[in-house]
Amino acid sequence: MIVAESKPTKELLEMVKDFKRILVVGCKGCVTVCNVGGAKEVAILASTLRISGKKEGLDVMVGEHTLERQCDPEYINELEDVIGDYDAVISIACGVGPQFLSEKYPDTKIFPGVNTKFMGGAVEHGVWAERCAGCGTCAIHLFGGLCPIARCSKSLLNGPCGGSSDGKCEISNEVDCVWDLIVTKMMEQDRLDELTVFRPPKSWTTARDGGPRKMIREELVK
Ligand code: SF4
Ligand code: SF4
Repeated sequence: MIVAESKPTKELLEMVKDFKRILVVGCKGCVTVCNVGGAKEVAILASTLRISGKKEGLDVMVGEHTLERQCDPEYINELEDVIGDYDAVISIACGVGPQFLSEKYPDTKIFPGVNTKFMGGAVEHGVWAERCAGCGTCAIHLFGGLCPIARCSKSLLNGPCGGSSDGKCEISNEVDCVWDLIVTKMMEQDRLDELTVFRPPKSWTTARDGGPRKMIREELVK
């Protein structure tokens, strides 16, 4: 899933301080799961905006809408009949959502309400951790099912840097050294010899470094 966090309320209020008709749009996808952009968060942010408006003595109208997904035109189109009633929209979907809204509704001012962080998952209640950097050529099977690109601070493919201590990465003792985990796992699976195979420099052309990417599934294109 895509993991995001809410922008500070002060920053959001500053963003839309000049607008009197504001629509808050949530998404039922990843941001609902990580508790920053679902219907509940839409209601909370809308209330905050209304209260703030009242405190300032302003007549602010705040609408609420939560789409099935903001990364799909089918659902973005649902706003067609209401978006004209507002002069600003705060999207609390991941960074894809406000961009899809901006493209579909070019006359409306769209603001991002969350900071999109990474692709990962919940490792315990209320804690999410990065697992994938979307490199475009997955090779975790070579590393015991663990990703050294997303989870090693230096994205090393040929073993650890030597800076780890007690299984933690040299950047922080809050971060596991994934190479410690990889070596342990390969030892447990009696596959340590596989790590002696030299991995040549990776081509990053399939990753973000190769420029913006697009995926075309011919059989689905009408
Ligand atoms: S190897 Fe690439 S695609 Fe696979 S988990 Fe790591 S970053 Fe993601
Ligand atoms: S300590 Fe481990 S995770 Fe951190 S940069 Fe070195 S090899 Fe990578």
